[in-house]
Amino acid sequence: MYNEGQLHQTCRCGGEMIIHMHTLIYKGKVKITNVPVFMCQSCFQYKPHPAVKNDLSRLIQELGGNPKRSRFSFTEHNEWASVVNDTFNDNGGRVEVLEQAVQQALSERIDLLLDLFRIASEAADKKWMEELEDRLLRLVPHTVSRIV
Ligand SMILES: [Zn+2]
Repeated sequence: MYNEGQLHQTCRCGGEMIIHMHTLIYKGKVKITNVPVFMCQSCFQYKPHPAVKNDLSRLIQELGGNPKRSRFSFTEHNEWASVVNDTFNDNGGRVEVLEQAVQQALSERIDLLLDLFRIASEAADKKWMEELEDRLLRLVPHTVSRIV
């Protein structure tokens, strides 16, 4: 089974693809930093990481064909990218420790969101609960697919 949480894979050229926080330039106008991609160490092909593909294509759709000049971090739009990015910074980008660290950071983030969810539900704050639930649902499938 394909594993969305993985941090390296094999390129078509046979080279090793590792995760890399990429800066995408869309239509020459929009700069999106910190997009997790797989980059091949031999041929330098890259492709969006499967865990962020959906959010990324939705974002591109929202920006449309004629976007305004802007710059933002993808981590603001994708929980998984945000966790990976934090972990990257903590580990100085060392891939060998990253996979484990990302899983660790993911479960910590999930724990945190669950704690917040409990507080939100005690406060009966429906809007906050929905927001947290949404953030949780974006994270949980990635951890689940790792365990399976
Ligand atoms: Zn390659």
